[in-house]
Amino acid sequence: MSGTGPLVVAMDGPSGTGKSSVSRRLATRLGARYLDTGAMYRVATLRVLRAGVELTDAAAIGAAVKELPLSIGTDPSREVIRLDGEDVSSEIRGDAVTKAVSAVSAVPEVRDLLVALQREITTDAQRIVVEGRDIGTVVLPDADAKIYLTASAEARAHRRNQQNIAEGRGDDYEAVLADVQRRDNLDSTRKVSPLRPADDAVLVDTSDLNMDEVIDELYRVVAQQISVGRTGGSQ
Ligand code: C5P
Repeated sequence: MSGTGPLVVAMDGPSGTGKSSVSRRLATRLGARYLDTGAMYRVATLRVLRAGVELTDAAAIGAAVKELPLSIGTDPSREVIRLDGEDVSSEIRGDAVTKAVSAVSAVPEVRDLLVALQREITTDAQRIVVEGRDIGTVVLPDADAKIYLTASAEARAHRRNQQNIAEGRGDDYEAVLADVQRRDNLDSTRKVSPLRPADDAVLVDTSDLNMDEVIDELYRVVAQQISVGRTGGSQ
């Protein structure tokens, strides 16, 4: 599976499964590029917040992102995200964006714009791990391998809280758990591209696995999906 040939891996699942870290590491191991589509929705959200738009006004949200001078790098070892030339990598992880991102990403104009961009970046990169919520179902239904990462809400909240502590954003497990559950609910019940596994995705539960175990499992699953795809078999 090593090499430089085309390989598209779709990596979906809810927040807090360790999806971003493992996707980056999997991309590195595969010698592939990496695309964080959640970061793109976060940049769109930052744009909307800066425009002072009401989050209940879908038309105004659509208008605010019509022009979205967004650039995102695909190097798995280095995150570079710019809005109008400004590095916003850190601001898009802040509370304001995190609270508003579900509302903004539910607006069809936002999704249409970003999905088109995600497909373009994937086509250019050719060998890439694309991480998000709707990659296997909507963005790249023909991906060579599809993985859906899951973990219990408690395990996910625990991880996110540890990350907050490590990055100086405080320690509040209950609030993080409530936010994880709120976002899961919004993301899985929205009308446009609700969060769900693709029919042909392999589910990997990370609740009781450490990072190395997850990476090994994902590498195995990708290899298996590719060999099934190449021999024309079905799972
Ligand atoms: O992955 P991350 O938590 O940064 O994503 C932030 C938000 O962006 C998600 O909660 C979801 O609302 C939205 N999103 C999405 N579709 C994607 C990726 C992220 O709707 N493909």
